[in-house]
Parts: sequence; structure tokens; C-alpha cells
Amino acid sequence: MAREQADVIVVGGGNAAFCAALAAQEQGASVIMLEAAPEEESGGNSRYTAGSVRVVYNGVDDIKALVPDLTEQEIATTAFGTYTADQFFDDMARVTQNRADPDLVELMITRSLDTFCWLRDKGVRFIPIYGRQAFKIEGKFKFWGGLTVEAVGGGPGLIKMLTEAASKRGIEIRYGTRALELLFDGVRVGGVRVRHDDAESELISRSVVLACGGFESNAEWRTRYLGPGWDLAKVRGTRFNNGDGIRMALAIGASPRGNWSGCHAVQWEMNAPEFGDLAVGDQFQKHSYPFAILINANGKRFVDEGADFRNYTYAKYGRVVLEQPGQFAWQVFDQKVKHLQRDEYKIRQVTKAGASSIEEFAHKLEGVNAQAFLNTIAEYNKAVRADVPFNPNVKDGRSTVGLPINKSNWANTIDQPPFEGYAVTCGITFTFGGLRITNDAEVLNTDYRPIRGLYAAGELVGGLFYFNYPGGSGLTSGAVFGRIAGAAAARHGRN
Ligand SMILES: Cc1cc2nc3c(=O)[nH]c(=O)nc-3n(C[C@H](O)[C@H](O)[C@H](O)COP(=O)(O)OP(=O)(O)OC[C@H]3O[C@@H](n4cnc5c(N)ncnc54)[C@H](O)[C@@H]3O)c2cc1C
Repeated sequence: MAREQADVIVVGGGNAAFCAALAAQEQGASVIMLEAAPEEESGGNSRYTAGSVRVVYNGVDDIKALVPDLTEQEIATTAFGTYTADQFFDDMARVTQNRADPDLVELMITRSLDTFCWLRDKGVRFIPIYGRQAFKIEGKFKFWGGLTVEAVGGGPGLIKMLTEAASKRGIEIRYGTRALELLFDGVRVGGVRVRHDDAESELISRSVVLACGGFESNAEWRTRYLGPGWDLAKVRGTRFNNGDGIRMALAIGASPRGNWSGCHAVQWEMNAPEFGDLAVGDQFQKHSYPFAILINANGKRFVDEGADFRNYTYAKYGRVVLEQPGQFAWQVFDQKVKHLQRDEYKIRQVTKAGASSIEEFAHKLEGVNAQAFLNTIAEYNKAVRADVPFNPNVKDGRSTVGLPINKSNWANTIDQPPFEGYAVTCGITFTFGGLRITNDAEVLNTDYRPIRGLYAAGELVGGLFYFNYPGGSGLTSGAVFGRIAGAAAARHGRN
């Protein structure tokens, strides 16, 4: 069997893997990245993202550090506000119900700005997210959800810039090369067995960084760990994340950690394909539901659509839709709020219904009990607190009262035709369960001792996200822990 050598092998070709590879190279290590996907499908889930990153900033100066070409005009017309470390801590504590590992959370938060500035120095460019995360009021953009910058060109742009940064620094990327097994002598990891073009070979290294995603693309593991029905979810991103990194590490005694029955899952176009489509990217998502109501096959509402800003509810509402009869729901809008629909509602690949009377509309919502739907609308309209002004930029407290499930914010009567419905199902983004790591991103065994030479970053790290997730933290976690893992892996075994 052929044998080759590198100081550090990084398994994966997404954001976490590139950050690990760049950090290892910076320490003087020779690095090979293994990407299971062929080049045209490479980049993992990271390539499917909008490229939005959650980063701590204490004012416009920090935004300028990340976006050096921000113009005076942009600064004058934008209220960036702040997103302090305390706010990020509060968000993580709240959405994970205080389950997240405090050390991992602290590292992710306190290193976020520094890490993205480091990436900027490597050639990754960022811009403010004017379209999706800021509404214009009185001529000024106001950011609202702690999510303020994105990579230029979104996920595809991020992967392109990372690939250029890696190639420029002599990091070799082997596409179509799947890691099968870790080479382990009982004490330390010293390489990987791989498959490329139906041939297997061994790559020897001082250390290995696993950054090859969760098990979201594996229908069997989803059903096994997330539970019945999860085989029916659509996969939002890559088809290549089958839990290989987790499986390889567990096979040599790694300790599992985190929310193995939990995942990030959103409302997703009902007729989307089994896996993501790079031509559509994240546009199958339907994220303007806080301004709509959600209706199931029984014609009933089933969740508080306005419980919080969408950044703090979207990642758990996919599961709620999966639990409905037939695993679908309709998002219902009237004309008053149509202007608040995000761009993704305008794509061709939508399952849409429309009518100019509510009775006609009720019969157009395929699979829905029309009479029950009409009753729901009548009750809902009566319950809206019209005395509280509507404001999409803040949690406006314009709620419903007296319903079995109230809407806490952004409630508006549904009475201005034409009416519009969009059918959604559950789209899984990534799984939360993974491996136990130290603050240096070393993988621990079941005796909680480091497995020498093995590091992990990105989706397959367990202990960070439980139940839910603050939007934009996936790329932040991958970047921060990828950088830590790569640097530690490069130092490992040096005399
Ligand atoms: C549609 C969509 C939109 C999203 N939007 C955002 C967003 O805007 N902001 C945000 O922060 N997060 C977003 N996320 C979540 C984000 O994508 C992930 O949290 C993050 O990209 C994970 O990075 P990663 O490097 O760990 O995994 P990935 O980017 O998925 O990379 C894993 C890599 O490992 C490779 N691989 C798998 N198995 C093997 C193997 N055995 N051998 C070799 N290679 C292997 C895969 O091919 C892939 O290249 C989104 C996700 C999706 C799907």
C-alpha cells in the first residue's frame, strides 16, 4: 500500500478545515487537506451558507477592523449598535438552556473578532449584511439580531477565498479523497487510511485534525440518534457529511459529547431535493415566518411564530414542522407584510398558493383542512392586540391574547388580499452531537485523557450547541476551533 507523509493532515474541506490548515501552515507545518467531495461539490456545508458570521463587536471601530473599506457614507447611514461578549454569552446561555460547555463557549466568543480579523489578514473579505439583518427606518439601516457581517460572495465566496488563501500558502488539497480510518498504535494517532478513485492508501503524519462535519447527511444515523421521522428530513447542505470523523474517532476510544439527539433544522421548501443544490444555496429556506402564521394539515397553528427574533428561533422550528402530520406546514402572509419577505421567497423553486379571497385561499392550501383553517384565521384576527404598534426591528410585544398558542410579537390580522402561502417541510442543517475536546481542541478518550495527535473542529465538536443555536455561530465555531486545532496539531510532536 502506498504511503506518503505530511506534518499535519486535515480531514475535511469546509470552513473549519481551512482554518485548521491555515493555522498549521502558519506554524511552519506541511499540510495536506483531504476532501471527500470532488472539487465541483467541495467546501462542505460552509459553501451552502450565506457566509454570515456571529462576531463580538463593541462599536463601529470593530466593524471597520473587519471591513476596512467601509465608507463614511455607509457609517453615516447605519446604526451598527454593538454585539458585546456579554450579549453573545446571554444568547448562548438562553438558546442552549444553559447546557453549553462554559469553556468552549468562552473560547468561541472571546476569540471571535480576533479570529475573523486573522482570516481577513489571510485574504477573506467581509461586508455588512444590509439585506437580511437590518431594516431601514427613517433613512437609516438598523442592525438587530447580533448578526452583522458576512463573507463577500456568501458561502461560495468564503470557500473560494479560503481555497485561494490555502493554495497561495502551499497547502495541498486532495479532492475526492475520503478518510476511512485513523492510524492508531494504541497511544497516538499517526495518520489516516484514505480512499481515492477506488484505491486505498495510507498517509502518515505527526497529527490529524478532524474537521469533516456531523452526521446530518446520513439518514440511518439521523434516525438512530435524532429519532423516528428524521430519515424524512431534507438535507440543506452537502451530501458528504456522514459522521465519518465521529465514527473514526469513536472507533479508537474517543469520548462522545453533547446533544446527540439534537440538531439545527429549519423550515425548508417542501419540494426541495434530498440534499442541497449549490445553484440554489440556502434560498430554499423560508425565514420570514415571524411576520406570518404557520398552519398545519389540520388547519391549526402549532407554534409561536413570533417568540423571538428569527435568529433565535429558526434553528429549532424545522423540528416542530417535522412533528406535524405529513411533515409539512404552510406559511401564510397577507399584503400588509409582503414587503417584509426575504429574497428567498422570490425564487422559482417555491411551492406557493395565492388567492384574493380568504375562502378561495383556504381551498388552495393543499393538504389542509379548509374549514378548520378559516376558523383559525377568524379566531386569530380577533386575538391580535391592535393597540400595540407593529415594529419589525424590535420585539414589539404586539401579540395575540387568549389563543391556545399565542403569537408573542409581530402579530397582524390576516385580512388584506391577495393572500399568499408557502409550503415548507423540515430541512436539517447539522447535528449537535460530537466529540469531547480540550481547550486546545485535542480529542479526549473515554478516560478523559487526550488521544495523542488527534484534534477536532467544526460541526463534529460536541458540547457547544444544545436544542437551538444563535444564527451565524457555526462558521464562528469552525473558525475559532479550526484555528486552535490547526495550531496545536502543528506544535504536536515537535522536539
Ligand atoms: C444551507 C445552509 C446555510 C447555512 N448558513 C450559515 C450561515 O450563514 N452562517 C453560519 O455560521 N452557519 C451557517 N450554516 C451552518 C454552517 O454551514 C456549518 O455550521 C459550518 O459550515 C460547518 O463547518 P465545518 O467545516 O465543520 O463543516 P463543513 O463545511 O460541512 O465541512 C465538512 C467537510 O468534510 C468533508 N468530509 C466529510 N467526510 C469526509 C471524509 N470521510 N473524508 C474527507 N472529507 C470528508 C465534506 O466533504 C466537507 O468538505 C449553514 C448551513 C447550511 C447547510
